[in-house]
Amino acid sequence: MGKRVAVIGAGPSGLAQLRAFQSAAQKGAEIPEVVCFEKQSNWGGLWNYTWRTGLDENGEPVHCSMYRYLWTNGPKEGLEFADYSFEEHFGKQIASYPPRAVMFDYIEGRVNKAGVRDWIRFSTVVRNVEFDAGAEDFTVTVHDLAEDRVYKERFDHVIIASGHFSTPNVPEYEGFSTFNGRIVHAHDFRDAREFAGKDVLILGSSYSAEDIGSQCWKYGAKTVTTSYRSAPMGFDWPENWEEKPALEKVEDKTAIFSDGTTKDVDAIILCTGYKHYFNFLPDDLRLKTANRLATADLYKGVVYAHNPKLFYLGMQDQWFTFNMFDAQAWYVRDIIMDRIDVPADKDALLADVAERERLEDASSDVKYAIKYQGDYVKELIAETDYPSFDVDGACAAFFEWKAHKADDIMAFRNHSYKSVITGTMAPAHHTPWKDALDDSMEAYLKN
Ligand SMILES: Cc1cc2nc3c(=O)[nH]c(=O)nc-3n(C[C@H](O)[C@H](O)[C@H](O)COP(=O)(O)OP(=O)(O)OC[C@H]3O[C@@H](n4cnc5c(N)ncnc54)[C@H](O)[C@@H]3O)c2cc1C
Repeated sequence: MGKRVAVIGAGPSGLAQLRAFQSAAQKGAEIPEVVCFEKQSNWGGLWNYTWRTGLDENGEPVHCSMYRYLWTNGPKEGLEFADYSFEEHFGKQIASYPPRAVMFDYIEGRVNKAGVRDWIRFSTVVRNVEFDAGAEDFTVTVHDLAEDRVYKERFDHVIIASGHFSTPNVPEYEGFSTFNGRIVHAHDFRDAREFAGKDVLILGSSYSAEDIGSQCWKYGAKTVTTSYRSAPMGFDWPENWEEKPALEKVEDKTAIFSDGTTKDVDAIILCTGYKHYFNFLPDDLRLKTANRLATADLYKGVVYAHNPKLFYLGMQDQWFTFNMFDAQAWYVRDIIMDRIDVPADKDALLADVAERERLEDASSDVKYAIKYQGDYVKELIAETDYPSFDVDGACAAFFEWKAHKADDIMAFRNHSYKSVITGTMAPAHHTPWKDALDDSMEAYLKN
């Protein structure tokens, strides 16, 4: 009997894995049987928007952390699929920072073309994975939520692609339980209009804080205050936006900061990050890592060193996203199909991880970090038949993006970049980002 492979999650990473196997089949190779389990009723992962928060229609934690009016926070030229360009999908080149619905359409276009929807069992949540050392295979226990049926199947390999920006990290501060206003984590933030006319406090200084603050500002918040623990974001903010050091406590509606200053606020949004959280995995298979570029315990960033028949996709902190997931998926496919060897010695696997950590830690410079991840993408694609592309060109787009943000944080999305897949320059969007209130695909694509 041929091999059986389980893929957990049909977000961009899991879909990359399906496309990788399908592309090998398309070229005439015999591929394993691939079964993808997805707890949502549709694919797209975080890009599959829902208004729901808390628990979904089946009582499972809502996966989506995205919100209305979300436009990509980096240029699309940094993430474009090398085997499926934006131009191929939309029939023309489009502007560089598409809203979520446009991105969802693009993600879906490639897998519709590949015809892999049948490989996915939707509304099926993975409850448990166990490794049988004697049989050298995995037993995967799943719950078919539509049929309300729990069953088990055996697989030779398991690929975890369940994401790591969905389980919120929620801190507690003195005075939260008696705060006279709304407290919400970014995971449950859905619509900035809720905060129009309000004084909003945002805790955090990373992408969520920057973007959710920008959304609130764009849709009419009275003031935005962001509070950092280590360093301010330091952009040239609009006049009704200020940065404060760490929050100490709140009293009624007053936030008190570590420098002794205060601010009365109506709402607090916790942009305090996410946890790598795998409640379906036992200790011996569960990845425990910080959110960093060199994840713990993953040889080549994908092979679980303590059980090399198990793989993880997309577990890194991310500059590169879709094309990095592709690079990983093609690489994992080729290990499973015996085209790439993995060292048998666990020490060798862990030495690879240690070297990646050392190189990441060698500099705290942002350009270095972008290039570091670009080099990782290059390293993987050099060993497979994933179409090679100008990774340095994608890094250059990221460098420009950083400079554009420093120039004007509320206008960086008005810039355009050149596709490294087709070589075409993106057109400018018809409306500056701050004035474009309609985030529908129709509005974005109109000329
Ligand atoms: C607010 C926000 C904005 C972002 N913006 C951008 C952006 O602009 N550009 C960009 O490139 N990236 C962005 N990202 C990064 C994002 O991580 C990636 O784009 C991408 O979605 C990651 O894909 P993934 O498949 O690894 O994980 P996910 O997209 O999280 O997909 C994981 C899938 O696994 C499923 N799953 C989880 N557990 C189980 C289980 N037990 N059983 C079955 N299925 C399960 C989930 O339902 C989900 O469909 C953003 C992330 C967030 C949170």
